[in-house]
Amino acid sequence: MKEPKGPGTIVELMARFPDEVACVEFLRKLRWPDGFVCPRCGKRESGTIKTRRLEQCRSCCYQASLTARTVFHRTRKPMRLWFLAIFFVERHKTLAPSLEPHSRSGGCGRASPARGHWAPRCSIVGT
Ligand SMILES: [Zn+2]
Repeated sequence: MKEPKGPGTIVELMARFPDEVACVEFLRKLRWPDGFVCPRCGKRESGTIKTRRLEQCRSCCYQASLTARTVFHRTRKPMRLWFLAIFFVERHKTLAPSLEPHSRSGGCGRASPARGHWAPRCSIVGT
C-alpha cells in the first residue's frame, strides 16, 4: 500500500480532515501502511481507540500508540491544529523564495529592500 498523500490546498485540507477522527485515521495509515500487526502476538485484527490515539489488538489487547516516535507524541492539542500548522510550514517553504524583498530593478515598485519592506502579495499574484 502506498503512503497517503498530503492535501494540496487549505480547502482540500479542511475537506479531507473535517474532524479528529479523520486525522487519526490518516496517522494510522501512515504508521501502518500495510495494516496493523500486533508486536506482541503477531495478529492483524485491531481496533482504533480514536479518542486516545491508540490501536488495540483484538487478540491480546496490546495497545500501540499512533503518535509514538512522531512529532505528535504526547501532545494533547487537537490533531487538526497540528495538521494546519504543518500545512502552513510546508506552504511557507514553497512560497519562501517569492517572499524575498524586491530588488529596486525587478520589484513591483511597492516595496524596497532599503526600507525593509516585504511584498508577498506582489510576488504571489504577479502584479
Ligand atoms: Zn496482540
